[in-house]
Amino acid sequence: MDRSLNVSRERYRLATASSVWPSRKLSRNRGLDCTAHYGKDEGDRANMSLARETDLAQKSRDRVLLNSVDAALKRISEGTFDQCLNCEQEINAKRLEAIPWVRDCITCQELMDGAN
Ligand SMILES: [Zn+2]
Repeated sequence: MDRSLNVSRERYRLATASSVWPSRKLSRNRGLDCTAHYGKDEGDRANMSLARETDLAQKSRDRVLLNSVDAALKRISEGTFDQCLNCEQEINAKRLEAIPWVRDCITCQELMDGAN
């Protein structure tokens, strides 16, 4: 695994470990009020919670995309970039231009989408 990705994951883990539940940590360690760290009212806390959830969801999507791009780069180096991972047929060039990290031909993708 790429070292920079490991470093990023560790930074992400440390950042979320200290920021997701800061008031719980404080209250457990120091006996402080859980609501003190989250803002003035329930609306503020809800907004902060939504912002955190949105941020985590974006990070998750970014991680999936990064993994897909890494896999596509590996397929380029192996010479199998335009080959469907499912049926091993050639993936249409326009499909690859539109989504360079795509793994499957349109036929296989439609079959998988229909199965789900
Ligand atoms: Zn296919």
